[in-house]
Amino acid sequence: MSSLLEAIAQIRREVCELHAELTRYELVVWTAGNVSARVPGHDLMVIKPSGVSYADLTPESMVVTDLYGTPADGEWGNPPFSPSSDTAAHAYVYRHMPEVGGVVHTHSTYATAWAARGEAIPCVLTMMSDEFGGSIPVGPFALIGDDSIGQGIVETLRNSTSPAVLMQNHGPFTIGKDARSAVKAAVMCEEVARTVHISRQLGEPLPIDQGSIDSLYARYQNVYGQ
Ligand SMILES: [Zn+2]
Repeated sequence: MSSLLEAIAQIRREVCELHAELTRYELVVWTAGNVSARVPGHDLMVIKPSGVSYADLTPESMVVTDLYGTPADGEWGNPPFSPSSDTAAHAYVYRHMPEVGGVVHTHSTYATAWAARGEAIPCVLTMMSDEFGGSIPVGPFALIGDDSIGQGIVETLRNSTSPAVLMQNHGPFTIGKDARSAVKAAVMCEEVARTVHISRQLGEPLPIDQGSIDSLYARYQNVYGQ
């Protein structure tokens, strides 16, 4: 049991530190945005508390919940905070995608601008082929309060190489084998959303043929991926 407590303490530190990447890359404002991580081998996850400013986040303030988003009792030393209001969506992803170890949500500006138009980001960059293996898809419009956001994420990403989905009129959710990979996907999603947007201002970006996208993706994922 103590090894599980130590594992959770370590994951709390990691999840807390990864939130600093969201502010460093200017993906979030105020208290919006959140990172979570699965506790490997247990039906538990660690997620940002609700309504706490980024400057005040500490490892101890991260909330341990079960995979339905209910704060886990007692021995985890949970803080006097509710888990993030997006916890149900993260929890749904962990329940339905066992290969996922980390989930990130932001309203980063350029990615969310594509989401507001309900337009997938076309794969017109080699770095996008590397990271996403194709376009970044749009998920359905869904309101917070039940499992519809989680369902939309899972249904969109289950058959996609992309670790990012743009939830329509809302913003990006990203997944990864661990929380760090999901944060990287959130950073890269905003980067390509910005670059392709700027390219569009000057004309129509040139497409990359699917064969080249596939070989770039396979090579990159072999070298750097899972
Ligand atoms: Zn949101």
